[in-house]
Order: sequence, then C-alpha cells, then structure tokens
Amino acid sequence: MEQALDVLAFGAHPDDIELMAGGTIIKLARQGYRVGMISLTRGEMGTRGTPEIRREEFAASAGIMGLAMHSMLDIPDGGVNESEENRLKVIREIRRWRPALLFAPYWETRHPDHAHCSHLVREAAFYSGLKKIESGEAAFRPARVAYYCEHYHFAPSFVVDISDVFEIRLEAIRAYKSQVFNPDAPADDEERTHISSPEYFRSIYARAEYWGGRIGVRYGEPFLVREVIRTEDPFALLIGRAREEGQG
Ligand SMILES: [Zn+2]
Repeated sequence: MEQALDVLAFGAHPDDIELMAGGTIIKLARQGYRVGMISLTRGEMGTRGTPEIRREEFAASAGIMGLAMHSMLDIPDGGVNESEENRLKVIREIRRWRPALLFAPYWETRHPDHAHCSHLVREAAFYSGLKKIESGEAAFRPARVAYYCEHYHFAPSFVVDISDVFEIRLEAIRAYKSQVFNPDAPADDEERTHISSPEYFRSIYARAEYWGGRIGVRYGEPFLVREVIRTEDPFALLIGRAREEGQG
C-alpha cells in the first residue's frame, strides 16, 4: 500500500492550485506534512502550450513546492462535470492517498470546470467513505475540505500567512513557462491570454498583499471551510500560541 498523504489539493487544470493555494501547500510541505496535488485534466484546451509541455511544467512546479505526489487525471479539459464516472475517479484518488485534509476551488467561480471541480471534490469526499460504493480501494473519508479563493471573494474562515514562502510560490508559478507572463521574454510569439499578461502577473502580488493586509502580514492566502471550526483552546486559536509552561 502506498504511503498516505496528509493533504491533497485538487484543481481542474495544471497551475490552478499554485495560483490560488500554492503558498499554503508549500508551507505545509515545509512543515513536514505529506502533500500531494491532482489536476483533474491535462489542460489540453489551453490557448498556449501543449499537453506534453503542461505535464512537464506541472512536474517541475510540484518539485519546486516539495510535494510528495502529483498527478493528472484524464477528465477532458472543458468537460469537467459531476458525472458518476468523474466522481468515481476522484473517489479512487481519495481512497488511494487517504488524506485528512483536501483543498478544492471555491464553488462560486467564473470557469465552469473550476465550479464542477469544487462540487466533485465535495461529493467524492463524502461518498469515498461509503463502503458500498466499490472502486477497488478501501472506503476512506477525509476529515475536511478547505476551499481556496479564485475569481469571487468570500469571507474567509482563515487566512494563511505565506510571506516566508511567497518567493517559492512565484518560482512554482514561473515553472508554467507556456502559461504565465515571462519578463525575460515579454514578446513571445504565442497568443496573449489573460493569465499570460503582465497585468495578471501583477495581480498575483496584489491578491496576496490584499489578503496579507487583512491579517497584518505581507502576503496571505484565504480559505473557506463550510463547517464551524471547533477548538479546545480559543487562546491558542486567536492569539496564535499555546500557554507557555511556567507562566502565570
Ligand atoms: Zn483552471
């Protein structure tokens, strides 16, 4: 049996995760958690790059982020939907890697593939715990799904301080040479897209600075969880440290 992951991040396309939750998964990997990422599609509908190039970029980015696992499923790009077939593909991955924590895109978003990815992961996270849904792997249910922010904002459940890993996150994003703006080759021959524009590259900073500003740090990444968060120690939760020995 493969070694289980602690954290598994899902995205509809290669580069979605890096752009929206990259800082957080780098941070978790550096703290010693086993982190993996799965792109539901190979990104073959993208205006720029080929599936082969995107696969190489995805692997390079996973290496930069220090991930224990990365993989691409064969759901068609532009055809991510909540079919039983697709749901079973996600269930299989959850059962195979047995992560306690999942990341998925926030369900209110612009790209239909991203919204479907959000719903698919939420449904699969539940159904993967039902023994009677047979996939060849043992039933397993992750404890939590945390949603990362894309096109539309939400009131986050928490914001992760990613200031110390922001440069690595940029490096992981830059691994997608075919997709994002490259300041060293500002006039390449491929067609400009939203994500390959200099404006988009600047918006990566702007978004991280905005959320960082909300928690009093330089760069941040917001997440939403549906459930109410439980704590035994509101002091540690709100102040950020447990009571020190010998104090008071
Ligand atoms: Zn995408």
